[in-house]
Amino acid sequence: MQILDGNIVSQHLRKQIQEEVAQRKAHGKKIPHLAAILVGSDGASMTYVAAKEKDCHEVGFHSTVLRFDASIAEEALIEEVEKINNNAKIDGLIVQLPLPKHINEKRITETISWKKDVDGFHPMNVGLMFKGLPCFLPATPFGIIKLLEHYHIDTTGMHCVVIGRSDIVGKPMSALMLQKNCTVTVCHSKTKDLASFTRNADIVIAALGKPEFLTGDTIKAGAIVVDVGITRVADATKKSGFALKGDAHYESCAAKASWITPVPGGVGPMTRIALLLNTLHAVKS
Ligand code: NAP
Repeated sequence: MQILDGNIVSQHLRKQIQEEVAQRKAHGKKIPHLAAILVGSDGASMTYVAAKEKDCHEVGFHSTVLRFDASIAEEALIEEVEKINNNAKIDGLIVQLPLPKHINEKRITETISWKKDVDGFHPMNVGLMFKGLPCFLPATPFGIIKLLEHYHIDTTGMHCVVIGRSDIVGKPMSALMLQKNCTVTVCHSKTKDLASFTRNADIVIAALGKPEFLTGDTIKAGAIVVDVGITRVADATKKSGFALKGDAHYESCAAKASWITPVPGGVGPMTRIALLLNTLHAVKS
């Protein structure tokens, strides 16, 4: 069994981005600038935005975080998004989700100019992605594709089972694996006898958010396991009081798989790097 190491691959890509930014600077070209909108003070959202800010600084991007009180009205937030849409200094915009309940997330996402939509959530980018045309790909599926490509894994003809059909992971992942010439099966909470699908899969991409759901006895020998899940599970032996668990039971799956992503250190770092790749793409388009 070999590890699909998101830490190593993301570090490698980070260096490439750093070099490209340095080159742009040396040639007087525009430095990529990512803006993030953060509404309210949800702890996880603040942590994610801080990580994105840190990632930008590490590669030499400019970054701006616009913070708004949780009470901001939907119309006022729309105006803020439009201001960024019209600000030529900013190349990419992300709105950290979830938003407070009184704000329609779909309306906000669709207000972001699709040309600055580095999260790849705008229907225009979703449509382009399904057609296989140049666009901003959603960060997690994009990161997984980069990870498989780094290890020269040729997925042509493989049967890929994606567990989960969310708009940000499962659905786009299935479209991208189809473009990678896989035969794709998408499973979800209503799928009957899910193990009968995973047992026949050459690749299983688990993105359901149920810790240790996929076990070694439900995959075939030599399968590739990509574990997207990250769930905090109480663990008294840890200083933090919790451990991060993936959707795959690591020990039993690793014993049977040909390749596997660890959690943490697999898909997570690739998701972060994919946002930087999209922002770099934004400055060039
Ligand atoms: P989500 O929006 O909650 O979607 C979960 C999907 O899993 C749904 O399609 C659901 O089916 C399906 N599902 C739930 N229980 C199931 C079961 N028992 N059997 C089969 N399918 C089941 O979640 P998400 O945003 O896609 O994220 C999934 C996981 O990935 C979460 O743990 C999340 O934290 C993690 N994640 C990690 C990264 C990263 O960078 N590593 C990035 C994004 C997400 P229905 O549609 O039928 O309800």
